Amino acid sequence: MIQFDGEIPSKLSQIGLSIFAVMSKLANDHGALNLSQGFPNFPISEKLISRVNHFMQQGFNQYAPMPGIKPLREIISEKVFNSHQLRYDAEEEITITAGATQALYTAITAFIREGDEVIIFEPAYDSYAPAVKACGGMVKYASLASPDFKINWPLVRQMVTNSTRMIIINSPHNPTGSLLNANDLVELERLTRQTDILVLSDEVYEHLIFEGKTHESVCRYPELASRSLVVASFGKTFHATGWKVGYILAPARLTKEFRKLHQFIVFAVNTPIQYAIAEYLQDKENYEQLGSFYQKKRDIFLENIKNSRFKVVPSYGTYFQLLDYSEISDLPEMEFAKQLVVDHGIAAVPVAAFYNQQNNQRLLRFCFAKTDETLIKAGEILCRI
Ligand code: PMP
Ligand code: GLN
Repeated sequence: MIQFDGEIPSKLSQIGLSIFAVMSKLANDHGALNLSQGFPNFPISEKLISRVNHFMQQGFNQYAPMPGIKPLREIISEKVFNSHQLRYDAEEEITITAGATQALYTAITAFIREGDEVIIFEPAYDSYAPAVKACGGMVKYASLASPDFKINWPLVRQMVTNSTRMIIINSPHNPTGSLLNANDLVELERLTRQTDILVLSDEVYEHLIFEGKTHESVCRYPELASRSLVVASFGKTFHATGWKVGYILAPARLTKEFRKLHQFIVFAVNTPIQYAIAEYLQDKENYEQLGSFYQKKRDIFLENIKNSRFKVVPSYGTYFQLLDYSEISDLPEMEFAKQLVVDHGIAAVPVAAFYNQQNNQRLLRFCFAKTDETLIKAGEILCRI
C-alpha cells in the first residue's frame, strides 16, 4: 500500500462508506437477497436502450451543452407544465445533471456558505447533511416522528433563525414512503414568506405514488416555487439507476448561480442518453403508469409477508417499505440487519442510518423494486423469522 504521512484535516471526519454500499456489499458477500440499496433488479425498456444505441451510432458522442441538450430541456418544461401548471423556461430554468445526487450537491454548494444553517428532516436521505457540512454549513435536524412521519411545523418554526439559508424537503420520502400533503406545502410557503430561505425539494420519486394520491410538488405552489430548486432523477423514472441522469428546476436567478458550480463539477452530462430520454419522454405512457406498476410490487411484497411477525408501516410512495421487527428482536437495527443477511440470507437497510444520532425504532427499510419472483422469495424468508 502507498503511504501518505501528512496531516489530513478531514472535511467529513464522521463519515464512512454509505449504508447502501455497506449493505449491498454484505448482501453480495453472503449471497443474500438484496432488498437494501434502492435499485430495480429487472430489465429496463428495450426501446429506450435501442434509442441510446441509435444516438451513439449516429455520432452523438461528444460533449453536450453545459445545461443539457435543448430538446430534453424543452420536453421537461412541457412535462412539468402538464403535471403542475407551472412553466419553467427551457433556456434559463432547467439544467440536466448527472443524477439527483449531483444536482443536490451542486445546489447545496452553490448557496451554502460557512455558518449558514440548513434544516433537514430526519430520517433523511444520506447525501444532504455531508454536502452541507462540506461547505461549512450547519445542519439543524427536525424529527419526523413515527408512525406517520409527519412534519411538526410549530417545531420547525422555532428552528428558523436569521442564519437559516435552506430547508430541504423530500416527498415521496425515502426511507419512510410518507408524502407531504397540501397543508405541508402551504405551511412551508407561509414559513419562508418574506425571508431569503431557499427550498431544496428532492422529488426523485415523483411518479412512484400510490392509491391515487397526488404528488404535491413545490411546482404547484408558485410562491414557493419562486424560492425553490426542484430535483428529479431519470434513474427512478426509467428504472435505470446506473445511468445517473436527472435534472434541476429553479428560477433563472437561482439557476444562474447553480450553473456557475455545475460547469466546474461535471460541465455536461452523457449526450446519447439525453437524446434518447428526450424522445422517450414524448410518450406519457412511459412514465404515467409507474405509480400503479410499483403499487402492485408493494402489494405483492405485503401479501407475501402478511403471515410474518414483521409489522407494516404504511408506504404511500417511493419503492421502499418500512417493517417493524419489535415482535421479533430487541437488537439494534444495524445488528438485526446484519443478522438477517448472515443467518437468513436477506438484506435490508437499518432506518437508524438515516439519522444523525443513534436510535433504535426497530425499523428496517426494504426495497420492493424487484421481480415478483424475488419478492415472493423475500416473503418466504421473512415469514420464517
Ligand atoms: N434523493 C433520494 C431521496 C434518493 O433516494 C436518491 C437515490 N436513490 C437520490 C436522491 C439520488 O438519485 P440519483 O441516483 O439520480 O443520483
Ligand atoms: N438512493 C438509493 C437508496 O436509497 C441508494 C443510492 C446510493 O447507493 N447512493 O437506496
